[in-house]
Amino acid sequence: MRGYALAESELTSFDRQFHERCRVQRPDRYRLLEALPADAPRVARGGGVSYVGASFGNGAISQELGAFDRLLAFDAERGLLTVEAGARVGDLQRFALAHGWYLPVTPGHPKASVGGCIAADVHGKNPARDGTFRAWVEAIELQSPARSYAIASERQNAELFAATFAGFGLTGTITRATLRLARPPNALVLRRVPVRDLAEAAKVLRDAANAPVLYGWHDGRPGRFGRGVVRIGLVGDEPARTTKLPDATRDLPAAPKPLPIALWNRAGIAAANTWLTMRWCKPGQSPMALAEALFPLNDARTYFAGYGKAGMAEAQWLLPHVRFDAFAGALRELVERTRPRIALIASKLFAGAPDGFCFDGNGISLAIQVPAPAQASQRAFLEALAELALAHGGRPNLIKESTLDANTVRRALTGFDAARARLAAHNPGGLHTSELARRIGL
Ligand SMILES: Cc1cc2nc3c(=O)[nH]c(=O)nc-3n(C[C@H](O)[C@H](O)[C@H](O)COP(=O)(O)OP(=O)(O)OC[C@H]3O[C@@H](n4cnc5c(N)ncnc54)[C@H](O)[C@@H]3O)c2cc1C
Repeated sequence: MRGYALAESELTSFDRQFHERCRVQRPDRYRLLEALPADAPRVARGGGVSYVGASFGNGAISQELGAFDRLLAFDAERGLLTVEAGARVGDLQRFALAHGWYLPVTPGHPKASVGGCIAADVHGKNPARDGTFRAWVEAIELQSPARSYAIASERQNAELFAATFAGFGLTGTITRATLRLARPPNALVLRRVPVRDLAEAAKVLRDAANAPVLYGWHDGRPGRFGRGVVRIGLVGDEPARTTKLPDATRDLPAAPKPLPIALWNRAGIAAANTWLTMRWCKPGQSPMALAEALFPLNDARTYFAGYGKAGMAEAQWLLPHVRFDAFAGALRELVERTRPRIALIASKLFAGAPDGFCFDGNGISLAIQVPAPAQASQRAFLEALAELALAHGGRPNLIKESTLDANTVRRALTGFDAARARLAAHNPGGLHTSELARRIGL
C-alpha cells in the first residue's frame, strides 16, 4: 500500500446526474497527500457538494481533504484567517462571526470547503456588491507532483493564482488559504419586493445593488412565469438578533437522501409555489439575522430530497444587462410553448469581469432548477434554454449544470481556448482530471 490507502466508493454528484465507482483517498497528514504515485490521475475533493461531478470521475483518484480542516492563524485586528483547504464554510463563518468578522462570499451549502469555493470561484448572497470568492483570498498554497508545494497570490505565481479560481482542481491540490474577512453588518432588515416578471425583477435588483443580501425567487410555471419576489437584506439600526449560526448547519448532510417518490411533479410544484408565494411575496419588511441568511439550505432539505432518485439539473446563465429583457421574454415564450417542469428560478445581480472559466460578468443571472433532466422533454427544454442563452450572449456556470456539453461551453466562452491552455500549463500530462474536465474538454 506504499503508505496510502484507497477505498472504493460509489460517488454521486449533488444533482444525481452522474455517478461513478471511484478510488478515494482520505489522507489525514501531508505525507499521505504526497504519497500517491506521481503518475496516478487524481482530483481534490472538498465537501463533495457540487451539483456536477467535479471532484471525481474519469478514472481519477479522489483525494478527499475533509481531515485538513484546521484554522491555522487568525489576525483579529486585520481580519486575516489562514485555514486548511478542507475547512467547511459553515464552520468558518461560525468562527468568524463569534470574533466579530464574517466572510462576505459563501455559497448556500455550509459543507462546501474553502478549497471547493476557490476551485469553483463561488459567489455568495450579492455578487454585484461582494464579487466572487476570489475577491476575499489573499494567498493559497497548492500541492502537485509536478512542482511539490507552491504559494500563489496576486504578487507571487500570479498566473497560477488566477488559473486556480474556477480551475476546478486541475492546477493542483489547494492545501491552505489565507482569507480576508470583513466586518458583518450590525443587523439586517429584509425587504420583500413582489415582482410581476423577470424584467421587473431585473430593475429592482439593479436599484438595490449595494444590499449585503440580494436575490430573487420566481415561479417557473406557464401562466405565472417570472412572478415572484426580490429579497433585499439592507443594513438596519437595530442590534442583531443573533450572530450565531443555527446549529442545524453543523449536522446538515452533504446531500439529503432522496425521497423514494419524487415530489416535484406538476401538482407538487404548484403546491410549493403557491405556499412560497403566500409566505414570501407580500410586500413589507422584517428583521433578518445575517447568520440565518447565509445558509438557506437549512430550510430546504426536504426540497432537495423531493427531487427523488431522478435528481435535478440547475442551469445557471449570466446575461448581459442589455440583452436581459429580450432573453426573459423569449424564455417565457419557450416555457409557455413547451411547458417544462421548473421547480424554481433564482435571480442575482453581477458586476464583475469574466476571467477564464469563472462565472462572473456584468448582468443578471438566472438559476433554473429542473427535475428529472434525463426525461426527453426536460432535456429538450434545457437544450433550448442553452440555445436561447447563447443567442443572447449568456455565460454558463460550469460547476452547476451536468447537462452542458463541450460544444455548448466552447460556443458560450469566447476565451475558451486561452483559458484551457492556461489550465493545461499548470496540469502537465492532464494528471488532474474529473468528469467535468472530461465532459467539457478541459
Ligand atoms: C445547496 C447548494 C447551494 C449552493 N449555493 C451556491 C451559491 O450560492 N453560489 C455558488 O457559487 N455555488 C453554490 N453551490 C455550489 C458549490 O458551492 C460549489 O460547487 C463548491 O465548489 C462546492 O464546494 P466543495 O468543497 O463541496 O467542492 P467539491 O464538490 O468537493 O469540488 C468542487 C471542485 O473543487 C475542487 N476542489 C475541492 N477542494 C479542492 C482543493 N483542496 N484543491 C483543489 N481543488 C479543490 C474539486 O476538484 C472540484 O473541481 C451550491 C451547491 C449546493 C449543493
